[in-house]
Amino acid sequence: MLTTHPFESLDDGDKLREECGIFGIAGAETASAMVALGLHALQHRGQEAAGITSFDGDHFHTHRAMGHVAGNFDRDDVIRSLPGHNACGHVRYSTTGETALRNVQPLYADLASGGFAVAHNGNISNAMKLKRDLVRRGSIFQSTSDTEVIIHLVATSTYRTLLDKFIDALRHLEGAYSLICMTPEGMIACRDPLGIRPLVMGKLGNSIIFASETVALDVVGADYIRSIEPGELVLVREGEVESVHPFGKRAARPCIFEHVYFSRPDSIVDGSSVYSVRKAIGAQLAIEAPVDADLVIPVPDSGVPAAIGYAQESGIPFELGIIRSHYVGRTFIQPGDKVRHLGVKLKHNANRALIDGKRIVLIDDSIVRGTTSLKIVQMMRDAGAKEVHMRIASPPTRHSCFYGVDTPERAKLLAAKLDIPGMTDFIHADSLAFVSIDGLYRALGETQRADIGPQYCDACFTGDYPTTLTDQDDLAPEDQFSLLAERVN
Ligand code: AMP
Repeated sequence: MLTTHPFESLDDGDKLREECGIFGIAGAETASAMVALGLHALQHRGQEAAGITSFDGDHFHTHRAMGHVAGNFDRDDVIRSLPGHNACGHVRYSTTGETALRNVQPLYADLASGGFAVAHNGNISNAMKLKRDLVRRGSIFQSTSDTEVIIHLVATSTYRTLLDKFIDALRHLEGAYSLICMTPEGMIACRDPLGIRPLVMGKLGNSIIFASETVALDVVGADYIRSIEPGELVLVREGEVESVHPFGKRAARPCIFEHVYFSRPDSIVDGSSVYSVRKAIGAQLAIEAPVDADLVIPVPDSGVPAAIGYAQESGIPFELGIIRSHYVGRTFIQPGDKVRHLGVKLKHNANRALIDGKRIVLIDDSIVRGTTSLKIVQMMRDAGAKEVHMRIASPPTRHSCFYGVDTPERAKLLAAKLDIPGMTDFIHADSLAFVSIDGLYRALGETQRADIGPQYCDACFTGDYPTTLTDQDDLAPEDQFSLLAERVN
């Protein structure tokens, strides 16, 4: 029984903040099979659940499932149940709380204008406020996902055409959204006005493809055309591609963490090779934080490109001192602190013969809670390392992300609690250093942030959020405190 207003929260125990991957194809013989392949390449962006919606010219068909793409969408019967030349899909990632099927995307609704499906990567930072207003006006929500707000805004818009309704809906949104939508008329892909989350366009024969990352184009053999521009809507109708910029042009603020960690190293994000950027960050780290050591060792897999860059710049040999088992999921993704600790042990093992008696520089992409670093440093010591120096290929993560990367609340971020000497003690390293924010910008080919101002959303490092955060600001200070206290436990 509900004891509070039904719209008091969007997340009945479920987290709103989640990183996701999206893929859509318009005009393909085997659209849903292509989407399954594309989602498979985007699996690193979300492992909790996956879904595909197709349109056969008359009807929409949806299959959504908990778990990985493989096992759910590599089955002929499933792909056969998703007929049509247009299809889009979604992989979802959420670390805690309820993992209900009703939140798995694409979300679909029958609107007065016809069917409407949406796959969303990002997080709408005023979703709770919008939901409250919509519920007051009679909307009945089916999920606890922020994405559903978009459907209700389209449904209740007083504009005439579906495109105008959609643009009208987007004008209400604050935060990060890369979207792929399907209607009976065709497919719409768009990116929020700051382009916080990535989205690219590709071509395969006469088919147009949209995907979170270029790696998903590679997997289906498609050619990369370009990134969708911040604030751009691309429509595909009867094979024709049309682009509109309903919000005017604004300075872009794409997520810098895509380059640091989230995207696959073989992807091109906003025109830059993720692998090359990560190597350049490592080289920058070697310049900013040199250390006398015998070996550079990456924390696999996320620390590998930066470690190569560090080794090349410093001249210290690169070696695989930690071997990773590929049969356990990403450490961070396993819910619950106890399981996460266990996951680290299952996932990594020291290459003892190499480490014993050596002074080592360990390279990882980021420290979030500090769990991984603590375990890995200890693992190096247990394997006989003489000295362990930790170098991190991003600045300290001091602030939560409200735009779709699942970081824990501030109280759990190690760098929000401790200064660098405190963090060094916590992880039991001989030394610890992070690349500077200017160094990170330099690795991305920019001049110093201090000179040019923010070119990215780097709020996780700087606290400089590029949009208002209505839902956060709406919380009374005492609620913010109790919410934090609740979640810390
Ligand atoms: P922690 O153990 O909490 O400090 O997490 C740090 C590790 O998690 C690093 O090795 C990163 O590669 C990885 N990581 C950082 N941010 C994320 C994220 N948002 N989602 C999943 N993994 C992450």
